[in-house]
Amino acid sequence: MGDSSPFRKRLIRWLEDNRGFIILVFCLPASFLFDTCLQLRNWFRRTFLSAPEKHDERVRDIQRRIRRWGDQPKDKRKPMCTSRPNWLSLSTTFFQKDQCEKIPVDLYNILSLDEDRQVVRVEPMVSVGDITRYLIPRGYTLAVTLEIADATCGGLGLGVGMTTYSHRVGFYQEAVESWDVLLGDGSLVHATKDNEHSDLYYALPWSHGSLGLLVAMELKIIPVKPYLKLKYIPVHGQKAYCDMMRDLSGALDKTAKLPDYLEATVFSKDEAVVMVGNFTDVTDPKEKAKINHVASWYKPWFYKHVETFLQKGEDYEYIPLREYLLRHNRAIFWVVESMIPFGNNPIFRLLFGWLLPPKPAFLKFTTTPGVRAMTFAKQVFQDIVLPMTVLEKSVDRAEELFDTYPILIYPCRIYDHGPAMGQLRPPRKDQMCPGTNYGMFYDLGVYGVPGPVKRRERYDPVHAMRSMEKFIREVGGYSFLYADIFMTREEFEEMFDLTLYEKVRKKYHAEGAFPHLYDKVKPEVDVFAIGRQCAEDFDK
Ligand SMILES: Cc1cc2nc3c(=O)[nH]c(=O)nc-3n(C[C@H](O)[C@H](O)[C@H](O)COP(=O)(O)OP(=O)(O)OC[C@H]3O[C@@H](n4cnc5c(N)ncnc54)[C@H](O)[C@@H]3O)c2cc1C
Repeated sequence: MGDSSPFRKRLIRWLEDNRGFIILVFCLPASFLFDTCLQLRNWFRRTFLSAPEKHDERVRDIQRRIRRWGDQPKDKRKPMCTSRPNWLSLSTTFFQKDQCEKIPVDLYNILSLDEDRQVVRVEPMVSVGDITRYLIPRGYTLAVTLEIADATCGGLGLGVGMTTYSHRVGFYQEAVESWDVLLGDGSLVHATKDNEHSDLYYALPWSHGSLGLLVAMELKIIPVKPYLKLKYIPVHGQKAYCDMMRDLSGALDKTAKLPDYLEATVFSKDEAVVMVGNFTDVTDPKEKAKINHVASWYKPWFYKHVETFLQKGEDYEYIPLREYLLRHNRAIFWVVESMIPFGNNPIFRLLFGWLLPPKPAFLKFTTTPGVRAMTFAKQVFQDIVLPMTVLEKSVDRAEELFDTYPILIYPCRIYDHGPAMGQLRPPRKDQMCPGTNYGMFYDLGVYGVPGPVKRRERYDPVHAMRSMEKFIREVGGYSFLYADIFMTREEFEEMFDLTLYEKVRKKYHAEGAFPHLYDKVKPEVDVFAIGRQCAEDFDK
């Protein structure tokens, strides 16, 4: 970053200006090949190596490795983490696994489906792609999932999971019936809400693998129908779409009839399309004409399709359920647009659409220090949990600091579990839905290139991110920890309540065995120095 020779500057500018072309010619074909190999490996694993009945054997093998780690002299032991390479995970940070003892947790099996209890038991590396492929034909889906096929059941549990069904049920963690975890001393613990390990049960979400190694979990499922009837409602005026989201989510009235899925895509401060979805069958032949396979490779990116309703006006269509659940997979929400600006052009889609999306794993695999710096210096990736009471204010703040649209909004309950809140705090009084034990929050998703960077104006990522984090702390919200944080340890502990977490770390032998949560999620690079350098480079 420090080298600012004119040649280097010109080269960087050229690469930035032609990034779409470079990605098309080099990255997409390579990413496609890379993905094909991964898919083949997964298929091979599913077809020939799948052995749910050998789960206990696999767990004992991991247990033996942990015990071997424990047999080393104390001063030789490095904290443990899974050996899953960073580039395979969705998070934008690169935790330095080489400073840890890497333990393989190769657990990819769906273990059992209990239709009476409406629970599926899985190993942690089962992906959203796998579980939706398994459950939907059987008439179910996970209560909470993510729109990206590569996300894993374990990653969503130990990080955070939130989706457009969350206004009905809350975070992904609310749908976890039980966790099976290997602790730092190698013992296996089954933690549920009500058993003697309920403290561990509540501390595991948002712990990012800093309390133990997850080896299995039971997840609640919900019955579904094959299609989602999705109504697109274009709304003009910020107050109008914010009021509509509060009404439809039941934030103000616990008796409100809730849709199955609810979200809004905000295209400018005053324009949004609110989407209301309900499970349905489509039997009427006339209605079949309204079925839209939104996930087909030649179709417009989902958010671009949504945008058309601002002009077309309110309408509805039927989307096959799995395609709805993975609707943001091809454009990774709208991240791909900043890489391939012409990617949604119909000719491009027709010729190359099948190469999309560029595999997040491939993009991470090929990340150089310069590209890594760009992910926070010239782009923004943030999902933020905020109370519904600040919906308007948060859109204003995001515009002021990042000036990039679209913005994603979908509501999520946060239940008041009293002392069992884990790393979160009970919702404040004014954030509670009247007469209930939950507050209505929402995910504010801001992804893309900040306006000033697009316009080649001065952009100070440190200032922008720290201002946003300050706002989040003030209003009682939370940053998703898959993305870069710019908080000091003190600020982090102001946002997250680590009281239960620290007790659990001590009680369940995590101290010294696994990295601390803050150390695990803080960026591995000096974001302050790189951010400052970027702003100074502009000033030169
Ligand atoms: C553009 C974008 C948009 C996103 N939008 C959303 C959104 O709307 N809603 C949402 O919920 N999420 C969203 N995410 C984030 C996503 O949910 C996270 O990245 C999530 O953590 C799942 O990723 P993963 O399965 O790769 O988990 P990982 O990142 O691999 O895992 C999460 C953490 O858990 C640890 N871990 C995983 N498995 C184990 C194990 N078996 N034992 C011990 N530790 C383990 C990992 O080390 C890591 O610290 C978004 C991500 C991106 C890039």
